[in-house]
Amino acid sequence: MRFLIALLCCVTLQMQAQKPKKPSSSEIFEQIKGLNFLGTALYVAAHPDDENTAMISYLANTIHARTGYLALTRGDGGQNLIGPEIRELLGVIRTQELLAARRTDGGEQRFTRANDFGYSKNPEETLAFWERDQVLSDVVWAIRNFKPDVIINRFDHRSPGTTHGHHTTSAMLSVQAFDLVNDVNTFPKQLEHTETWQPKRLFFNTSYWFYGGQEAFDNADKSNLVKVDVGSYYPAYGLSNTEISALSRSQHKSQGFGNTGSRGNQIEYLELLKGEYPQNGNLFEGIDTSWNRVDGGADIGEILEAVEKNYDFKNPAASLPQLLEAYELIKNLKNAHWRDLKITQITSIIKACAGLYLEAASSQQTAVANETIALNFEAINRSDFPVNIESIVLEPSGKKYEVAEPLRSLNFNKRYNMQQKINTGSANLTTAYWLKEEGSVGMYKVTDQKLIGLPETPKTFKAVFQLKLGDVKIPITTNVIYKYNDRVNGEVYEPFEIVPEASVLVKDPVIIFANAEPKIITTEVTAYTSNLKGIVSLNVPYGWKVSAPQPVEILQKGETKNIAFTITPPKNASEGILQPQLELIGKTLNTKITKIDYEHIPLQTLVLPSTNKLVRLDIAKRGDYIGYIAGAGDAIPKSLEQIGYQVAQLNINDVTAESLKQFDAVVMGIRAYNVLDELKFKQPLLLDYVHNGGTMIVQYNTARGFSFPNLGPYPLELSSDRVTDEFAEVTILDPTAELLNVPNKITAKDFEGWVQERGLYFPKNWDEAYKPIIAMHDKDEDPNEGSLLVAKYGKGHYIYTGLSFFRELPAGVSGAYRLFTNMLSIGKNDQKIKQ
Ligand SMILES: [Zn+2]
Repeated sequence: MRFLIALLCCVTLQMQAQKPKKPSSSEIFEQIKGLNFLGTALYVAAHPDDENTAMISYLANTIHARTGYLALTRGDGGQNLIGPEIRELLGVIRTQELLAARRTDGGEQRFTRANDFGYSKNPEETLAFWERDQVLSDVVWAIRNFKPDVIINRFDHRSPGTTHGHHTTSAMLSVQAFDLVNDVNTFPKQLEHTETWQPKRLFFNTSYWFYGGQEAFDNADKSNLVKVDVGSYYPAYGLSNTEISALSRSQHKSQGFGNTGSRGNQIEYLELLKGEYPQNGNLFEGIDTSWNRVDGGADIGEILEAVEKNYDFKNPAASLPQLLEAYELIKNLKNAHWRDLKITQITSIIKACAGLYLEAASSQQTAVANETIALNFEAINRSDFPVNIESIVLEPSGKKYEVAEPLRSLNFNKRYNMQQKINTGSANLTTAYWLKEEGSVGMYKVTDQKLIGLPETPKTFKAVFQLKLGDVKIPITTNVIYKYNDRVNGEVYEPFEIVPEASVLVKDPVIIFANAEPKIITTEVTAYTSNLKGIVSLNVPYGWKVSAPQPVEILQKGETKNIAFTITPPKNASEGILQPQLELIGKTLNTKITKIDYEHIPLQTLVLPSTNKLVRLDIAKRGDYIGYIAGAGDAIPKSLEQIGYQVAQLNINDVTAESLKQFDAVVMGIRAYNVLDELKFKQPLLLDYVHNGGTMIVQYNTARGFSFPNLGPYPLELSSDRVTDEFAEVTILDPTAELLNVPNKITAKDFEGWVQERGLYFPKNWDEAYKPIIAMHDKDEDPNEGSLLVAKYGKGHYIYTGLSFFRELPAGVSGAYRLFTNMLSIGKNDQKIKQ
């Protein structure tokens, strides 16, 4: 593949993601072994963190195969343990966590256009959201480009319903693709860019998990399974394969997958699904993985095997003459796949053997189109091998900067620097390519076939150092980066990005109007260029009113100005899109710039559509003052404040009989009983508060390992029952229930427009003191009545609900607000209704 730039398989255990690789002598040797192995493996699963990093590291570092992980999704639907980003922004973080994992274990990363829309119970439900043809096409595309000899599925394609539907679907599509990739009539348009391919073997990487436990697996007949010991030790790294695997796995920090490494033998079991059974655990058996595999490769193999044999750990540069000879031969290979792949690998090895350091650094992290910026180029040769620098070519302009004759020779350890002012021209934005166009719930929209599957947008600005080592001309390309010195962290590298002239946004993604009163809305304009002048306006839906557009002028790049607008909602319930807009001379911007900055991944700079949701609720409420005890973290308090409640966030230690008295209702945040140990001491106080007339609302807790004795005033047993279809029909069990009538009349309409799911971990068994209010179910399942239970206890009310209010309220779902308000208002008939 010409445009899928092959990353060199090698382990560099640098945590600072953006820093250039500087391999040691023994790491270079490992890379040479990889250069001499012509075999490829692809691991397939659904999400970031599904992959078996021990297997990937074993393939990349023990076998030295080119190893890829195809994750069908970017993991947008997961939780985020390290920050506020969810959905697509979490997908961006998890994409980078996968890349960090691959930098650690030596693999490469690929994706499809499938969006991780949330949990689904089986492949049928998954494929109701994923466009089967598109995802299958992307799996075929990945295989045709990556050309694996061996494919390994993480999941079993034959057991739908036993795990996440995405998991089983990933295996099903992989099995299908295996038989389709070599057929010219399958997705023929792909063949304008790549070729057909036939992998030799397909495996399923089984484990105790698929047998229901370690004991069952220990006792199972494993005679048909291929056994691979992935417990190798690498003196070059001072690490066991399983330790590298743990370091790789620990990159999934947003998922809390920190992992302690182990040492010693570790057997992985592979069930052969297609192809011939391999002997002695050799997954590549019968496949020529030497240079003889490729036409014209025999001579190259002879040279490079000698390089491997005679490698001098004290002086890697001694290998340069043979490496350069091989380079020239590889350059002339007819097989473009192996040629491009191996040229990338050997170029990297040559660079490392010569101790060459090449850098193109911008003095700023972002630039706009047609901006003049300063670049600093550095080149140094830290070997005694003759190296010349003839010119530096800047991409994408192709502009060539000649190096003056007397400076061309890169003498041992003498640094060469060149400064240039360059114009960025009409450069494209560098933001995440899969977020540029709006997709569907289950699919990203990417129209450029060449981008599909790439982990990130290829960098626009690159410098090509035109070098001559001895008599051999070698161009070496490096991305233009931004670097600076940080007083704490020292040298920091960040990606250099092209952005629009400004970011314009309203902070709250959803703005709720609980009545007809106007609200003042602040719009932020941040300049990404100096002397920004424009007109800011807000576009509102029909029936809404907004104050007039206002001029904005910002002199300095990086400065933000806040501009206030008044928005008046219509008299009746209504919702629509708010779009902030900045009019500049000759262009209109309606995008915002979002940065994601965590230590384990490179700084992410995203240009995203700037839109907000406006909701005018038709809502009445009783009660004012709500106590909130946060669990695992959710945005419910903010949502309740938006509709006029006062919310006090209670620290668990501040829960006393006295402090509870002041509240009209107390709400437990999601998973509070899973994460707050102290609740076992406070629960009696909370239940007393209910008994004395209070209202307590408990949101979902996960059922696994749940053993809290008195979750409610009467016996109540959680289960893992959930309704994942957000469109599932809702049946009203008791139309007269106070919860469904006061102060808001709840009807089927209030269950329209829900997002991602109805709810999760519904109780299964409960004391008859609890009254179920509604019923719902996923396709082909029995009605579930446990999503909303209410019990009278003493003078008060206790409500347990697994409904996903934590998703619905922040998403501005009207019906969810109306129902939640009824929960807060229960038992307050005597109070005045507030509008
Ligand atoms: Zn998964």
